[in-house]
Amino acid sequence: MPLGTPPHPATRPTDSNLLRARFPLGDFEITICTDGTYLLDGGAMFGVVPKTLWSKRTPADDQNRILLGLNTVLVRTGKQTILIETGIGNKQPEKMREIHQNQELLPTSLAAAGIRPEEIDIVLNTHLHFDHCGWNTTLHPDGSITPTFPNARYFAHAGEVEHGHLQLDRDRISYLSPNYDPLIASGQMTLLTNDSIARNPEIVPGISVEPFPGHTAQMLGIHIESASQHACYIGDLIPTAHHLDPTWVMGYDLDPVECIAQRKRFYQRAIPEQWTVLFTHDHHTPAARVTLNDKGKPVATALELPHL
Ligand SMILES: [Zn+2]
Repeated sequence: MPLGTPPHPATRPTDSNLLRARFPLGDFEITICTDGTYLLDGGAMFGVVPKTLWSKRTPADDQNRILLGLNTVLVRTGKQTILIETGIGNKQPEKMREIHQNQELLPTSLAAAGIRPEEIDIVLNTHLHFDHCGWNTTLHPDGSITPTFPNARYFAHAGEVEHGHLQLDRDRISYLSPNYDPLIASGQMTLLTNDSIARNPEIVPGISVEPFPGHTAQMLGIHIESASQHACYIGDLIPTAHHLDPTWVMGYDLDPVECIAQRKRFYQRAIPEQWTVLFTHDHHTPAARVTLNDKGKPVATALELPHL
C-alpha cells in the first residue's frame, strides 16, 4: 500500500503512540520515545539494493520516499535518567520540514512518558547528523538557542564534531552546529575520543559506548546492561529492522564496506547473547531480538514485552 503525500494520516503519530515501547531490562526501565516520523528517499536508504526488493518490505510514496521513525531511548537506571539520541528538533528550515514532513514531537513524547527535561542527567548522541541530535538544543521564537536538557551532561565523539566543522561537500547538510557548538562552548558536552573510550567505555554503571565505524567514521553504539540483560542502541549501523542483512547498507553510509564488516562483528555477539537491539529509524519495530533464519540471514524477532 503506497503512502500518500503528505504522509498518510495513519502514519502520523498521535497521542496514543507517542510512546513506542516501555519494558524492563534487568533492574533498568527502558522507554522508547519519538520525535515523530519523517520521509527519506527509499533509494538513498537502501543503497545498491534494487527497489523491487526493498519496496516489498517498506513501500514508497509517489515521490519514492519511505516512512522512518526517530526513536529516542530513555533509560532509568534507578540512579540516573539517560536519553539516547534527540531526533530532528525544531531548527530545521521550513524547506527541509516540507521535504521531511517531520513533526517535532520529542518534547510531547517525553511529557507523555512522564519525564520533565530537567530530570535528564545524561544525553548521548551516537553521531551528530541532524536527525540524531536536533533536540540537544531548542530554538526559541526570539532566535536564541538553549540546551533542551538544562541539567544534563551531554556526550558525543570529538571526531564527529571535527568532521561536522569541516563542512565537506558530501555531508555538510547533515551537520548543524547549533545542535552541539553551544554545548561545547558552555562545557556541558563532553567529547569522547577512541583513546578515551578504549581506556574507559563506561558513561555510568550499566551504560557504555563502543565505536561502530562505517556510517560515519566515529559512530558509536550504546550498550545498556543490567542484571545479565543486554540491549544495544546501534544507531545508523542498522537503522531499521529492514536493514539487518549485512549487505543492505545505505547510500548515506560514508564507508559501506566497513558497515558490512561492522554489522557482522555486531552479530557475533548480539545474536548468541540475545541482545535487545534498539533501532533508531524503525517507527514500527523500535526494538527486536536478532535471530538467524533457515537461510542463515539475520532477521528481527519480536520481543515478548511485559507492559509496565
Ligand atoms: Zn540517522
